[in-house]
Amino acid sequence: MKPGIYSVICQLILFLPMIIVNNSMAQTKVEGLLYLTKKPVSVEIMNGKIVRVNQIEKLSDEKHPVYIAPGLIDTQVNGFAGVSFCFGGGQLSQEGILKATSELWKKGVTTYLPTLTTNSREVMLRNFALLAATKNNKDLHGSIVGYHLEGPYISPIDGYRGAHPIKYVHNPDWKEFSELYEASGRSIRTITLAPELDGAMEFIRKCRELGVIVAIGHHNANKAIVDEAVMNGAAISTHLGNGCANTINRHLNPLWPQLANDQLMASIICDGFHLRDEEIAVFYKVKGPDKTIIVSDVTSFATLPPGIYKNDDGESIELTKEGMLILPVQNVLYGSASPISRGVARIMKITGCSLGEAIQMSSTNPAKLYGLNDRGSIAPGKRADLILFEVGDSDLVIRKTYIEGKMVYEKRD
Ligand SMILES: [Zn+2]
Repeated sequence: MKPGIYSVICQLILFLPMIIVNNSMAQTKVEGLLYLTKKPVSVEIMNGKIVRVNQIEKLSDEKHPVYIAPGLIDTQVNGFAGVSFCFGGGQLSQEGILKATSELWKKGVTTYLPTLTTNSREVMLRNFALLAATKNNKDLHGSIVGYHLEGPYISPIDGYRGAHPIKYVHNPDWKEFSELYEASGRSIRTITLAPELDGAMEFIRKCRELGVIVAIGHHNANKAIVDEAVMNGAAISTHLGNGCANTINRHLNPLWPQLANDQLMASIICDGFHLRDEEIAVFYKVKGPDKTIIVSDVTSFATLPPGIYKNDDGESIELTKEGMLILPVQNVLYGSASPISRGVARIMKITGCSLGEAIQMSSTNPAKLYGLNDRGSIAPGKRADLILFEVGDSDLVIRKTYIEGKMVYEKRD
């Protein structure tokens, strides 16, 4: 063997492990039909970020075409897969938070706001503190970006209050909110409140100064109050059409002023139970894809078999075989049992909107509203939070989920 060749072989042996390591760290490519154009693309990923999006002639696996889109962002998640972020009794644990998150990945949700609903101050403080201690766990890959506090400053009136327990509902209390905000690691990103309550306008202004997005919900505000809330900084209606009494005045009710105010965005639940299809169609016509956000309002009962369960107050909660979740004692819905992916598929069917618009309302819009500038679209520099999926009749079929370029879920047939 010539010395020259010998030295080349020696160098190769020396450097081969480095080349392999570099390759494993370096570029990953993920292919799919881009959700905006339905044309095949290859997304190049490096160190968890998207570096390039290339148009390609055809997919490598043409027989099983899948769409590629940014991961879904759900801003109203009360719990999932047996884990509740709201319940007391010491039920919430770090393991539970990790479990709920990895189960949400299977449904295409790569970012979410755990949502705490009206409860005692002690329970809310404890659950926020636990979430704050877990939020930056590396196994969560940055999926939790903050929290949604829904209540306790909502309407005490039956119907408008929904399933929130009356004993904990009260007027806005800045001192209490500040305590909760600190316990959350200053990470409450949004609060849902009723603007007609005493002190609500000043509370909204203070939230705005703090950078907390104010949503109005579970309220019975008239036009003047809705408009004043928006002037003070309220940005969005929480689950428009829900958190409302079953019987309302046809002229004077809280729905018309929220629909009429063009500055106000609307979040809607499209699970097939919270709103009728024609309501979704009308809300979408009024607000359009730029001012609508799809949320799930999903609870711990999602993914569980149908049956009778208990909430932390010992009340019976029924999950029907159709997937509807009710609090029979008050005959009101008790949140949802369907992930946001169902809403994405259903809104396309109901409104005829495009896949691009449906993903805009379930990823791009929430990213913009909540200042999550590193996600919500497929573009160079964004986090490689990606989903590969097919669009089914009433849900998305998630094939693979990537977070920061790492595959965290793959569906097995
Ligand atoms: Zn609600």
